[in-house]
Amino acid sequence: MKLYIFQCGIIKTKKHLITMGRGLGEEFDVPVPFFLIRHPKGNVLFDTGNALAVAHDKIKHWGANVIETCNPFMNENDYVVAQLADIGIKSTDITHVIFSHLHLDHAGGTGDFPNAAYYTQRAELQYAYVPDFFQASTYIRADFDKPHLNWNLLDGYRDNYHDVFGDGKIQIVFTPGHTPGSQSLLLKLEKWGPTLLTGDCVYTEEILDEDILPGICYSPSDTIQSIKKIRALRRDRGTRIITGHDPIAWIKFKLAPACYE
Ligand SMILES: [Zn+2]
Repeated sequence: MKLYIFQCGIIKTKKHLITMGRGLGEEFDVPVPFFLIRHPKGNVLFDTGNALAVAHDKIKHWGANVIETCNPFMNENDYVVAQLADIGIKSTDITHVIFSHLHLDHAGGTGDFPNAAYYTQRAELQYAYVPDFFQASTYIRADFDKPHLNWNLLDGYRDNYHDVFGDGKIQIVFTPGHTPGSQSLLLKLEKWGPTLLTGDCVYTEEILDEDILPGICYSPSDTIQSIKKIRALRRDRGTRIITGHDPIAWIKFKLAPACYE
């Protein structure tokens, strides 16, 4: 099994939107990650980065109010389909698309993988349609509102550690808090070892190491429980943690076409 790490441009934002109450108004540029896992039984995407429309007209697609605090920079070549093509993967080769959650910088590629089963939490999809006011601008209905797709909706703790191929190599871990249906992906890589992709459950290693909340947070108490669960995975099983938007930690990783086995 191989893990490929990609970056769909950057978002220019403010530090306090990443770490709640810390770095008020400070400029902060973060990477927009997405991941491909090549398993003998399928090609799995974890998140899809920004929509292609963001490269063409970001104000129209995300809205001027979002751009003010969350300004994406990407071009057509950064789009998930283009970057997969660069390593010889066609959109029809993708068998599974698993979303950490449906925020605008994660669900932008929804619908562009015709043979894929799409995985999200039922609570996440429901919330994306009717978010609270403080999360309303972070969900773009044009991205995720595609009911004709082959959606597989997971039900929280009941489906915790959902085993994608039944061999324990790729498991979906329920880690709510940042949004109602945030989830992480646990990989058993042979050489690199157990690795957890947290999505935005943990934005940065600062959040993992210190008692600080992500700047955008649906449920603080759920977030704290999820972070404790992730800390336990790191401590007890030596799991490597790849956080959602950490510009400092990010430079440690080799991007595709390099991969980890
Ligand atoms: Zn998010």
